[in-house]
Amino acid sequence: MSDLIVGIDLGTTNSEVAAFTDGQVRVLGPGDRRILPSCVGLSASGELLVGEPARNQQALYPERTVRSIKRRMGSQEMVMLGPRSLTAPEISAVILRELVEWTRLSLGERPERAVITVPAYFSDAQRGATREAGALAGLEVVRILNEPTAASLAYGYGDGSRHTALIYDLGGGTFDVSVVTVEGDITEVLASHGNNRLGGDDFDDLLAERLAREFQKRHGIDLRNGHASAKARLWWAAEEAKKKLSQEPYARIREESLAERNGKPLHLEMEISRTDYEALIRPLVESTLDSVSQALRDSGRKPGDMDAVLLVGGSTRTPLVFNLLAERIAIEPRQDVHPDLCVALGAGVLASRLSGRDVDRVLVDVSPYSFGVSFLGERGGFPYPHCYKPIIRRNTPLPLTRTERFYTSHPFQPEVDVHVYQGEDEDALKNILVGDFTIGGLTETEDLNEILCRMRLDLDGILEVTSEEKLTGRSKQITIANAMQAKTPEEIAAGRKRIQDLFESRFGVDFNGSPGGEETDTEIIEGEFEEMESGGAVVERIAVTGAAEAESLMGRSRKLLHLMHDEDREEAIDLHERIGAAIESGDSEALAAASRALTELLFFTEGQIGFMEGQVGSRPN
Ligand code: AMP
Repeated sequence: MSDLIVGIDLGTTNSEVAAFTDGQVRVLGPGDRRILPSCVGLSASGELLVGEPARNQQALYPERTVRSIKRRMGSQEMVMLGPRSLTAPEISAVILRELVEWTRLSLGERPERAVITVPAYFSDAQRGATREAGALAGLEVVRILNEPTAASLAYGYGDGSRHTALIYDLGGGTFDVSVVTVEGDITEVLASHGNNRLGGDDFDDLLAERLAREFQKRHGIDLRNGHASAKARLWWAAEEAKKKLSQEPYARIREESLAERNGKPLHLEMEISRTDYEALIRPLVESTLDSVSQALRDSGRKPGDMDAVLLVGGSTRTPLVFNLLAERIAIEPRQDVHPDLCVALGAGVLASRLSGRDVDRVLVDVSPYSFGVSFLGERGGFPYPHCYKPIIRRNTPLPLTRTERFYTSHPFQPEVDVHVYQGEDEDALKNILVGDFTIGGLTETEDLNEILCRMRLDLDGILEVTSEEKLTGRSKQITIANAMQAKTPEEIAAGRKRIQDLFESRFGVDFNGSPGGEETDTEIIEGEFEEMESGGAVVERIAVTGAAEAESLMGRSRKLLHLMHDEDREEAIDLHERIGAAIESGDSEALAAASRALTELLFFTEGQIGFMEGQVGSRPN
């Protein structure tokens, strides 16, 4: 008998198979495909459909399609697939057979033995049904493995010593959180909680509802009551937009000819921001956090007792999930093993060990550092121009692309400087500057101008940074080679010195840099950075517009008068008088002009104070 043993995640929404090949555990599949939707169908002509094709026909032919069969494992009820009546293990066996075929296509060998994962709460009957499904697919099930154990094995927590971990698993249709202790490949589940009717599909529903309401408002037609194919396309568009919003601050949705009126096609076309999407799903995510607290309470452990918090399941790619969970338990969750492949990979680790290989964890290419940009924010109650916002987080699997949004720091700003840093400190100057550039020729609007900053990091350590004016799509890009290379202490010292010189040379810089430049610009920086030019900063918030804001601006300015150079102080006092007069006379143009001038003056003054504070404190030179 061949020594090949595969690890299988037989999931509610998706399934995957992993095995040891080319020196490590990998998820297998034909071409680029690695995720098999857990869906089985019969086509109109009676052909058996598994995975993607079955999922695609689900909305049109629900009577000939079966999904989420995992929910029925262990029950005796029969499931109708068109005219045929089948048991739950029989349907699951069809999915397993397809994974066996995927293995044969990848490795040229048909597996006969498998480790299959199940939720920790599965009863004996449900485990028995899973074994039966394996047997029906021609597989000897050498081990049934709990999903949280699989996740901890993938992360290398099965090394023999004792670890405590919180495993947060949010898939397409189920949510589980477990507090476990792991010792070797034995896991003790101390407590678990969850909701087996909550998952990413609910996020799709909320987004699809939102799109349908918008379509109805514009065209007076409710797609939810429409043709099944229009509904299916609506839900598909919602899921695609949801995934895009995990990486980007906006998603554009365009579905053509979803309905028609008087023979004319009606299209769905809208843009949704991550902020709006997060407001929709927030109550659902909050409800998972209540389960986390409950599981911790039931286990008698505190967040601080956890050696790790592991994210599992495709829906944990949602930034709101990561952020709210990190906030609630004050530990940075780990997602360095692909969350949707993690359970299969962990099953693959055990399968490889059982076939005699010495495997202790999964190898994944991750970004060893965070990469981000500096912005004008607040530190210690003062505006500070070198706040750091990571865009790519350390330990995220590669390749990846992430985008965040920023704003110009004052109205009519013609350009922004983008400073790209590698590091983890919330003070950008304590990180390493890996590149900078200026995007000029911005539309000079009275409103603050939105700037998108996109970073793409590939497996070879090539970092592409693009800044784009959202209003016009005007963009500029730099490519930084060797972004992941660790810097030597000398390089870091030299970099810091250059930052300090640059910072000192800022004072007196002219804000009104000249517009110009091409639509899209690209330059390559070989692990080096260029001299900084004059220009504005980006901020995360909107600045002064009306009288109330002008009052508060003057309040900030008064507190700083004693720290200003004589000339600046005189100018500030003059501006206070001009603002006061403009408010009294209701001259909004004069108010805007004086407020703008005071904002600019404060930008430099407060920046200088931020720097002075740092010198007194712990900023290294
Ligand atoms: P799983 O059951 O672990 O395979 O997870 C499937 C769920 O993950 C589905 O609801 C997917 O729509 C969702 N999902 C997959 N990729 C992403 C992503 N990039 N962002 C948010 N959700 C995702």
